[in-house]
Amino acid sequence: MKAVQYREIGAAPEVVTVPDPEPGPGQVLLKVTAAGVCHSDIAVMSRPADTFPYALPLTLGHEGAGTVEALGEGVTGIAEGDRVAVYGPQGCGRCAKCAEGKENYCLRAAELGIFPPGLGAPGAMAEYLLVDDARFLLPLDGLDPVTSVPLTDAGLTPYHAIKRSLPKLVAGTTAVVIGTGGLGHVAIQLLRALTPSRVVALDVSEEKLALAREVGAHEAVLSDEHAPGRVRELTGGLGAQAVFDFVGTQATVTTAGAVAAVEGDVAIVGIGGGALPVGIGTTAFDVEVTAPYWGSRGELDEVLALARAGAVAVRVETYGIDEAPLAYERLHAGKVNGRAVILPHG
Ligand code: NAD
Ligand code: ZN
Ligand code: ZN
Repeated sequence: MKAVQYREIGAAPEVVTVPDPEPGPGQVLLKVTAAGVCHSDIAVMSRPADTFPYALPLTLGHEGAGTVEALGEGVTGIAEGDRVAVYGPQGCGRCAKCAEGKENYCLRAAELGIFPPGLGAPGAMAEYLLVDDARFLLPLDGLDPVTSVPLTDAGLTPYHAIKRSLPKLVAGTTAVVIGTGGLGHVAIQLLRALTPSRVVALDVSEEKLALAREVGAHEAVLSDEHAPGRVRELTGGLGAQAVFDFVGTQATVTTAGAVAAVEGDVAIVGIGGGALPVGIGTTAFDVEVTAPYWGSRGELDEVLALARAGAVAVRVETYGIDEAPLAYERLHAGKVNGRAVILPHG
């Protein structure tokens, strides 16, 4: 089968032919309908050899959706032909966090060598994907796999971050979204669907700010040194009760800290390497700063339900598998507005 692989440190991803996978006991083979392209892959492919965390070659793609093609021995509760989305941050299934469905925070994944597809294990950017357990497959139940596949990360990750702040996002409050790309443009829709807050979006690109407005941001502000002042102005000096930073560079986390209101939340989701110091005088009083990772299985179920209810619609641009390297180039250059999705079967 064809697969999109990162094969050599510093090189561009390549489309190669690899052996067709076959499901072993307990495994499920998916015919991949759609695989999303995430900026995290670019961060992974930018890492030097001495800190590169995975074995190469690595088949990319940690957002996957497809049709069940074959079942390994002993698999029950799922059938050939079922259309499903893949829960990516897979854990051991048995530790205290996994027992709560928070496999993204599995306490034993590292020790057991369990990696998400596309982030250590062979990913979804291929014609077929082996999934280790049927519990990682959530029914699409009528959702279009192409527009829904980004919900498994670009939807789930902001949902997890936003859900934590919902008690603070009451009427009259403001939520700020920094970086309105793949994750950010879904975050805006989630905030509009789940809260009465005013949503202020920040980005460096006019096209992204236009998309932010289209998907529901009340205000779209250029992300530069004037942005904190502008957000303060828009909030009568109070600042935002929650800030979601989908960039995470030093510049954006500094902005996030500067615009957080007293007792506000800052979630640093982007992996740009920035850090926000905590201490008296660094932010407004009692600001809570977190760095969340992906989301739980239950939360993915909730995100898919929101999409079925029409509350979120991902803006996608599609590519054939041979064009996957081009999709990464365009994402790297900031040219993807919404989410790029690879269709391995055309
Ligand atoms: P993306 O490229 O689709 O979106 C990033 C957006 O940020 C773009 O619209 C870009 O124009 C904008 N941007 C760049 N610099 C900016 C600045 N200084 N101020 C404001 N906006 C700026 O990327 P994505 O796939 O949505 O991923 C977003 C980030 O989230 C990445 O860092 C990715 O690695 C990370 N991520 C983290 C998790 C997690 O679990 N913590 C999960 C998925 C992705
Ligand atoms: Zn991702
Ligand atoms: Zn676990």
